[in-house]
Amino acid sequence: MKKNAAVFLDRDGTINEEVGYLSRIEQLKLFPATFEAIRMINEHGMKAVVITNQSGVARGLFNEDFIDTVHKLINKMLEEKGVFIDRFYYCPHHPTEGVGKYRISCDCRKPAPGMLIKASEELDIDLSSSYVVGDTERDLETAQNAGVTGILVRTGYGKDVAIARTFNAAYIARDILDAVRWIMRNQEK
Ligand SMILES: [Mg+2]
Ligand SMILES: [Zn+2]
Repeated sequence: MKKNAAVFLDRDGTINEEVGYLSRIEQLKLFPATFEAIRMINEHGMKAVVITNQSGVARGLFNEDFIDTVHKLINKMLEEKGVFIDRFYYCPHHPTEGVGKYRISCDCRKPAPGMLIKASEELDIDLSSSYVVGDTERDLETAQNAGVTGILVRTGYGKDVAIARTFNAAYIARDILDAVRWIMRNQEK
């Protein structure tokens, strides 16, 4: 039995503003609610793990170095408030767009559960006691495919709550902080 529980966080539209394809560093704006949400995850001894599709790489809009730069900056902004993401996972692929090595059908592009499975092995995470928080149907589908509890946030693309019913979201949250508060209440049961 694996010993950690995780909150898997989608990136764009969940922890930072959705801007289409984030391809310039100035476009990175963390939601104010993100800091307190991550603090709660850290303090409860759960893993905070970002899982993000970044097909902008396959599409030639930016490269993997840029993604690393963004993720380092996110953790720098968080660390200034004493909180942190345990690990970032991203999928740079797309099955049909772009050229070269990134144009493949991979097992990491959400809704495939590849990033969660990798995280569960690397960080000793028990998926059945973990959560996915995201703003799209694809995030909820990922949760279902990985056997993880899914929560929809109404930020980013998450305005359409009908999709939450289709994919059995356990909860529809106003934002990431509301989602994490719900998780903490649920964990106590
Ligand atoms: Mg998103
Ligand atoms: Zn991939």
